[in-house]
Amino acid sequence: MTSSLKTKSVGGQWTICKSLAGSVNTQTEELKLSDWFFPNAVNRSNVTTSWAAPVVWHGTYDEVALENYYASHKITVGLTVFAVGRYVDHYLHTFIDSADKYFMVGQKVIIYVLIDDFSKVPWIDLAPLRMLKIFEIKREKRWQDISMMRMKTISEHVVDHIQYEVDFLFCMDVDQIFVKKYGLETLGESVGQLHAHWYKTSPAELPYERSQLSEAYIPIGKGDFYYHAAVFGGTPVQVLNIARECFRGIMNDKKNNIEAVWHDESHLNKYFFLHKPTKILSPEYCWDQSGPNSITNGTFKLYWAFKNYDFLRQSV
Ligand code: UDP
Ligand code: MN
Repeated sequence: MTSSLKTKSVGGQWTICKSLAGSVNTQTEELKLSDWFFPNAVNRSNVTTSWAAPVVWHGTYDEVALENYYASHKITVGLTVFAVGRYVDHYLHTFIDSADKYFMVGQKVIIYVLIDDFSKVPWIDLAPLRMLKIFEIKREKRWQDISMMRMKTISEHVVDHIQYEVDFLFCMDVDQIFVKKYGLETLGESVGQLHAHWYKTSPAELPYERSQLSEAYIPIGKGDFYYHAAVFGGTPVQVLNIARECFRGIMNDKKNNIEAVWHDESHLNKYFFLHKPTKILSPEYCWDQSGPNSITNGTFKLYWAFKNYDFLRQSV
């Protein structure tokens, strides 16, 4: 009898162990970074971090090499998205519809929709290999809490079922739109997103939480990058670590009557300061078209939808 066991090693690569009639024959096939990542292909500095993690920009990756590898190493990718209150009508349809077209094209995808009103889930005809799973969640009163409590809900869902269903998981804000292929080059053990407003700024100037009373505190001059909480991901176990640890910080701050300056994002930045991501996505993976920076036209894959906070954050 032949049995085959798939386990994952660092970097989101597969190790395949085949056990054959009592004798163990271990065969390892790995996708190496050098098989698909070419930092010198673009004219930029800092395409690799000081801890040797790739910073994935358009032009640095070989899509065909990745697709060939994953053709024989099948994976399922999860994507969580929260839509509560007015964000449902405003953003959810476009987010799902555009994810269906561009997120992990050709791969098996499960989109987990966490929503406060089941009856408002939009009807969308999904492409093959795509599936929606809908969960009703309780609505928090303050928008800051809606955003922060996502960390608790994500942890619970990873523990309850997501860990058994996907190999990689992304967690995203709903107020964004996919416009280009957002593919295999983004997968990793733990993945952080460079914030489109801050990727050119030195650490001392970044908007980290600066109060020592907060769990999210990062001393002036420390830190690597400013990560955007609108996109983070990794293997389910790493996403669980991220979400649990951020939620622990958020709740400890609440106990001490303090709220970090950028809420869950400040805690995410603290997490990635202490536990460096294994892969970083360039701002092309979460671009702001009306922000302070410019980018070569046509290279961004996901961009911020228009935000009318005064209207959207009202409670009715
Ligand atoms: N959110 C929501 N309803 C709200 C506030 C937030 O559904 O009233 C969710 C939604 O997924 C949103 C995310 O929480 O994208 C983070 O909030 P927001 O996008 O307003 O934060 P920002 O992009 O300003 O950091
Ligand atoms: Mn947002």
